[in-house]
Amino acid sequence: MTKYVFVTGGVVSGLGKGITASSIALLLKSRGYKVFMQKFDPYFNVDPGTMNPIQHGEVFVTYDGHETDLDLGHYERFIDEELNFTSNITSGKIYKSVIDKERHGDYLGATVQMVPHITNEIKNKVYEAGVTSGADIVITEIGGTVGDIESQSFIEALRQIQYEKGSTNTFFVHCTLVPFIYGSNELKTKPTQNSVKDLRNMGIRPDALVCRAPYDTGESIKNKLSLFCSVPVSNVIDSIDVKNIYEIPINYYKQKIDEIILKQFELPIKKANLTYWENLIDTVNNLKGEIEIALVGKYVELHDAYISVAESLRHAGYKYNVKININWIDSEELESDKKNLKEVFKNSNGIIVPGGFGSRGIEGKIKAIKYARENNIPFLGICLGMQLAVIEFARNVCGIKDASSTEFDSTCENPIIDLMADQKSIVNMGGTLRLGNYECTISKGTLAAKDYNTDKILERHRHRYEFNNKYKEILEKKGMVFSGINEKANLVEIIELPSHKHFIACQFHPEFKSRPTRPAPLFDSFIKASLDK
Ligand code: GLN
Repeated sequence: MTKYVFVTGGVVSGLGKGITASSIALLLKSRGYKVFMQKFDPYFNVDPGTMNPIQHGEVFVTYDGHETDLDLGHYERFIDEELNFTSNITSGKIYKSVIDKERHGDYLGATVQMVPHITNEIKNKVYEAGVTSGADIVITEIGGTVGDIESQSFIEALRQIQYEKGSTNTFFVHCTLVPFIYGSNELKTKPTQNSVKDLRNMGIRPDALVCRAPYDTGESIKNKLSLFCSVPVSNVIDSIDVKNIYEIPINYYKQKIDEIILKQFELPIKKANLTYWENLIDTVNNLKGEIEIALVGKYVELHDAYISVAESLRHAGYKYNVKININWIDSEELESDKKNLKEVFKNSNGIIVPGGFGSRGIEGKIKAIKYARENNIPFLGICLGMQLAVIEFARNVCGIKDASSTEFDSTCENPIIDLMADQKSIVNMGGTLRLGNYECTISKGTLAAKDYNTDKILERHRHRYEFNNKYKEILEKKGMVFSGINEKANLVEIIELPSHKHFIACQFHPEFKSRPTRPAPLFDSFIKASLDK
């Protein structure tokens, strides 16, 4: 029977609830249990696919083609499991499904209500995650903070699950803040007390508290929290600020959070295998050198918009024992003639152009790609980055001056990048991109073949436009190699320039499969090439 851990948050957002949930999952996995993770987001978008990255950060894509919250990226990177469609549930998804069922007549004349119809739908999503993953333990994070109007139906559904399944099958972790107040110079428990009171008003008594604090809270604070919140003192866990996030699971391990959960679940406490994780922490804390990588994008004011790309660069850095300093460059700013590119990139060992949508900042990115190509600076282009690398090559090497993509110029004469036929009739924007895993066949003897060391790969996609095969021959003649192809649909997946020190770009998003202990191949080779400037 599947067991369920729920992670809620109180007092303020941004306490690291996602990292707490991932850390718990990692520890339970390290003790030999099969784990799976899920996030509930109370907003009404069906998924974050249609949201502006400046507001919401990156959209993470699962292998089965679902556009999800960026927290799922943390989950996958921590627990090294591929998540799926059951892993990110929004209010929008829940309500849509209930309304669709109502229209279909599935409720047989009943009045459709918050309880039980919406809450049943939520409960089903929790149980579905357990069934489809076959996990021993599912860890579900509830977005937002307890007390938000939006999250009430989720909390109510969890209360019902706690009642239905009982305490040996459910465990509630509540993450809160224990702030330090200057003047009185002490840690304060009242915000936590109030937030637990809110939770209990909704019928849920937490089994453990995870207290974010600037330093160890100490015995007397723990006793006080235990007394006021009805949580055993051993289950009051400190979450102190750390230098690097990989230390967090180990901090919790030392406070036995996993043992506490397994005991309540009446499951055997098997030996934890955390050596690989401790080695990772050691590597991260003792990096020898550092290099700068320029990341040229249009959402750079919010680094979260590129979180998986930035993480993947760091993962490759761990492998080569170097710290990666990202030079965040706003592509729009490169468009001005006054901008001296030599100055902008003077310390950058490599240039990366990640994915993006729309026409803003496009010409700046093209300038950056041209600079990388002409100055033999290692270059990695991802998705839009590949499309622009091809456009740049067509314009500046093949002399097709007006080469463009129909995404930015719907009437362009030379659409090097264009919509696929099956995308032309699409009216709904949400969930209709080419999403998730597609196969790519790699040609022998290419850089891609060297990087992946195999000729068939599966990578995750999120795009609507494709390379237009009509232009393949012209570009090939001038030296571009189309080294990765999706054979089924004859779509270009990877391009490279063998005449260049390291110039490669892909239509897919390799960043979604990178792990701290196993960098994605294209990031690995990009950092390796960037190291010998
Ligand atoms: N905007 C481009 C497309 O839709 C690229 C998408 C991306 O970079 N993720 O094809």
